[in-house]
Amino acid sequence: MQQDIRRILIDRHAIQARVHDLARQIALDYGPREFLLMPLLTGSIIFVADLVRQLPVRMKIDVLAVSSYRGATAHGPRVLYPTAFDVAGKHVLVIDDILDSGTTLHTVTGLLRAQNAASVKACVLLKKNLPTPAAFAADYVGFEIPNDFVVGYGLDFNGYYRNLPDIAVLHQHVLERNP
Ligand code: 5GP
Ligand code: MG
Repeated sequence: MQQDIRRILIDRHAIQARVHDLARQIALDYGPREFLLMPLLTGSIIFVADLVRQLPVRMKIDVLAVSSYRGATAHGPRVLYPTAFDVAGKHVLVIDDILDSGTTLHTVTGLLRAQNAASVKACVLLKKNLPTPAAFAADYVGFEIPNDFVVGYGLDFNGYYRNLPDIAVLHQHVLERNP
């Protein structure tokens, strides 16, 4: 696995320091308001596991599974799980690994608002710097990164590399290799 890495973009220590800051900001902003954390599977699992352990406040966690169908069909992303929401009146904080085009978070937060959540915010570990603005602005962003494909700390390539402790860029020949 290590030999597939071209370079480390953000190392584990920088990630931990930033996760700590994000948690402090979130705790300050919500104050005594109880919130419901909604991590999007699967990419945000490592991030959310670290984040919640830095958030000593009353909360519930409900995961969402979203299909992305990236480029494959005319449909946007769809929520596959749960099939019914219980967010009415709740302060919902959606967690994702990375904000790219923004369509995933745009769709998910729209759905949650339509289900009468009291408030909907979004927190992402990474945001890509794209030539055109994303369809969505997150309330909390860990790091802005160049428009490269990244893996590690929950992010995958063909399902692999999620267990890398750092955020990394793979060698071009690895990205071009057929699964
Ligand atoms: P968006 O809907 O914002 O275009 O896409 C967000 C989703 O695309 C993320 O949740 C993630 O699954 C995937 N994605 C976007 N960029 C990257 C990347 O650089 N690396 C990985 N592993 N996934 C990415
Ligand atoms: Mg994802």
